[in-house]
Amino acid sequence: MTRGFVHSPSPTRVVFGAGTVASVAEEVRRLGGSRVLLLARPRHAERVAAALGELVVAQFDGARMHTPVEVTAQALDVLKSAAADCVVAVGGGSTTGLAKALAVRTGVPQVILPTTYAGSEVTPVLGETENGRKTTRRSPDILPETVIYDVDLTLDLPVPTTVTSAVNALAHAVEALYAPEANPVVDAVAVQAIRGIARSLPLVAANPSDVDARSELLESAWLAGTCMTSVSMGLHHKLCHQLGGQFDLPHAETHTVMLPQVMAYKEKEAPEALARVAEALDVPDAASAVYDLVHSLGGPTSLRELGLPESSLDGIEPASVLRAAWAGTRPEGAPDLSALTAQVIGSFDE
Ligand code: NAD
Repeated sequence: MTRGFVHSPSPTRVVFGAGTVASVAEEVRRLGGSRVLLLARPRHAERVAAALGELVVAQFDGARMHTPVEVTAQALDVLKSAAADCVVAVGGGSTTGLAKALAVRTGVPQVILPTTYAGSEVTPVLGETENGRKTTRRSPDILPETVIYDVDLTLDLPVPTTVTSAVNALAHAVEALYAPEANPVVDAVAVQAIRGIARSLPLVAANPSDVDARSELLESAWLAGTCMTSVSMGLHHKLCHQLGGQFDLPHAETHTVMLPQVMAYKEKEAPEALARVAEALDVPDAASAVYDLVHSLGGPTSLRELGLPESSLDGIEPASVLRAAWAGTRPEGAPDLSALTAQVIGSFDE
C-alpha cells in the first residue's frame, strides 16, 4: 500500500559537541544579535556569560516549569528595558519555554543551550500556563533559530532528573511512531532515538560523568525532539499536559509515570508501532520493559508518588490508564524480568 506523507525538515541550525559553549558569541552574531538577554539558572550562567562577554546586556533567572504567563511578563520587561535583540537560554525545558515565549511576543531570535533531554529546543511548540490551565500552540515563530548542544553542560544533571528527562525524550520518539503524519524519516529517527536512549541511559545512571554515554543520550534526545517538529504527539502528551497544567505536576516525572501505561493502552490501537518500539528496545513487550527500566533506575512509577490525590483524576479519560498510573501498576505483557531490566541490573553490578 502506498503511504502518502509530507516531510518538511526543520530550519533550526544545530551545533553539537563538547566545549561548544565557546561558539555562543559567534552564533549570536550570525543571527545579527549584539545585545543579549541571557536566561540562565545561576549554575550555568557564569560559563555562558563569560563566553558571550560584552554581548550580554541583561540576565533573568526566574524561568519556571510550564511557562507561567506572569513570569514571561517579568522577563519581557527586562528584555524591553535592556533593548535586547537576541535571547540566549541555557537550561532545561523551562528556560527554553521562556525563551520561546519571549520570541513569539517580540520576534527576537533565540540561541538555546539545553542542559536536560526535554527536546523543547527543536520544536515550534510552546505550552503556557495561565490560571492553572496549560494551553499549547505551534508556530514557526516559536522555533529557535540555533541550538548549541554542549555535552559538558549535561554532566552535572543529577541522576533522578537524568532518568525522568530521558524518559520524557523517549516519549517523543514512541508517540512519533504512531502519529497520523508519520513518515519514513521520522520513523527512522524515532527508532534510532529509542535505541540510543535505552543503550545510554543505564550507563549514565551508573556513571553520570561518562561523557560518551552522556553524548549518546544527548544526541538521542535531540533526535527524539526533532520527531515532534514533524509530527503531532498523541494521547500520552495530551494527558501529561493536562495533568501538568491542572495539578502543577512536575513535567518529566509525569511523563515517566504515564509513558508505560499509555504504551500498554496503545498496544491495542497501534500494535505495529509498539512492536517497533519493542524491537528497538530488544525486548518482547515495550510497555513493561519501559516500566521496568524506570523502576530499576529508581524513577517514579506512580502518580501517587508525585503527591496527586486519587480523586483528582475523576472525570479524566481514559480512566483505566489514569487509575493504573496513579497506583503504579506494572503493565503486564512480559515476564517480570525483561531482558532490558536484566541488562540494567547487570550494568550496576559491574
Ligand atoms: P526544567 O527545565 O524545569 O529542569 C528541571 C530541573 O533541573 C530544574 O530544577 C533545573 O534547574 C534543573 N537542571 C536543569 N539542567 C540542569 C543541569 N545540567 N544540572 C543540574 N540541574 C539542572 O525541566 P525539563 O524537564 O527540562 O523541562 C520541563 C519544561 O519544558 C516544562 O515546562 C515542559 O512543558 C517543557 N517542555 C516543552 C516541550 C515543547 O516542545 N514545547 C518539550 C519538552 C518539555
